[in-house]
Amino acid sequence: MTGGESARGLDDARRRLERARRVAVLTGAGISAESGLPTFRDPQGLWQRFRPEELATPQAYAHDPERVWAWYASRYRAACAARPSRAHELLVELEREKGEGFLLVTQNVDGLHARAGSRRVVELHGSLHRARCERCAERFPLPPPEAFTPPPYCPRCGGRARPDVVWFGELLPAEAYLQAEEAFRHAEVALVVGTSAVVEPAASLGRLARACGAYLVEVNPQQTPLSALAHLSLRCGATEGLQALLGEDCP
Ligand code: NAD
Ligand code: ZN
Repeated sequence: MTGGESARGLDDARRRLERARRVAVLTGAGISAESGLPTFRDPQGLWQRFRPEELATPQAYAHDPERVWAWYASRYRAACAARPSRAHELLVELEREKGEGFLLVTQNVDGLHARAGSRRVVELHGSLHRARCERCAERFPLPPPEAFTPPPYCPRCGGRARPDVVWFGELLPAEAYLQAEEAFRHAEVALVVGTSAVVEPAASLGRLARACGAYLVEVNPQQTPLSALAHLSLRCGATEGLQALLGEDCP
C-alpha cells in the first residue's frame, strides 16, 4: 500500500495525527470514486467523455443552458443515488475526535461528506444539490431528483436559476476560502485525499500548510504535484489510506 514508504513513516504519521489538536483535510473527487462517482481527470473520469469548456463554464451556460443543466441534473441524480464510502465515514470519526480543531475542506459538489455526518465541512466548489437564482442570487435546494426537471426557478423572484457550483473562470466563495486557508495555515497535520492537486487555488492549501510547518500526508493512488512536498504519500485508495492512518484494521 505505501509503495516505497517505510512502516516507520506510517507509524510516525499515525502518532502525529493522534496527538494533533488542529487537523485540516482537503478532499477531491477520488474519495467519491469509492462511492461510484466518476472523477474528472482519471481514465474513466468525466473529462474523458465531456469537454469542460463545453459544460463547466459561464460561457457554456450562456450558450446552451439546457445542455449544461442536463449534465448537472444527471450528476445530481447520481450523487443522490450514491452512498458515502467508509472513507467518508472515517472523516466523520476524525471530526468527532478532534472537535473544534478540525476542518474538512472539499472540492466535491456531491454532498456525500454531509450525508456521511460531517458537520465541520467547507464546500469550496458549491453543491449539486442547490441552485442559485440568476436574477437575485437566492440559493435554494433542488427538489428530490424524481420531482426535478431543469431548469429550476427561484422561489423568491421567479427568475431562472443556475447550478450553484463554481465554474472554470469563476471565483471561489470568499468566506469559504478564507476559512479553509485559516485551517490549513494553523494545522499541525494536513491530509490531502483523492485530489489531483492541479485545480488552483484549492491545490495550494496543502502547500500552505506545509510552508506553515504542518505534517503533510497525501492519500492518492497516483503521484501528484503535492507528492514531492508531502512527508508521507500513501499510494492507495482513500478508504485504505484513512484506515491505515486512523489505525482501523482492514476487513
Ligand atoms: P480529479 O478528477 O482532478 O482528480 C481525482 C484524483 O483522485 C486523482 O488524482 C486520482 O488519482 C485520485 N483517485 C482516484 N481514485 C481514488 C481513490 N479510490 N482514492 C483516492 N484517490 C483516488 O478531481 P479533483 O482533484 O477533485 O478536481 C477538482 C475538480 O473536480 C473540482 O472542481 C471538483 O468540483 C470536481 N469534481 C467533483 C466530483 C464530485 O463531487 N464527486 C466529481 C468529479 C469532479
Ligand atoms: Zn430570484
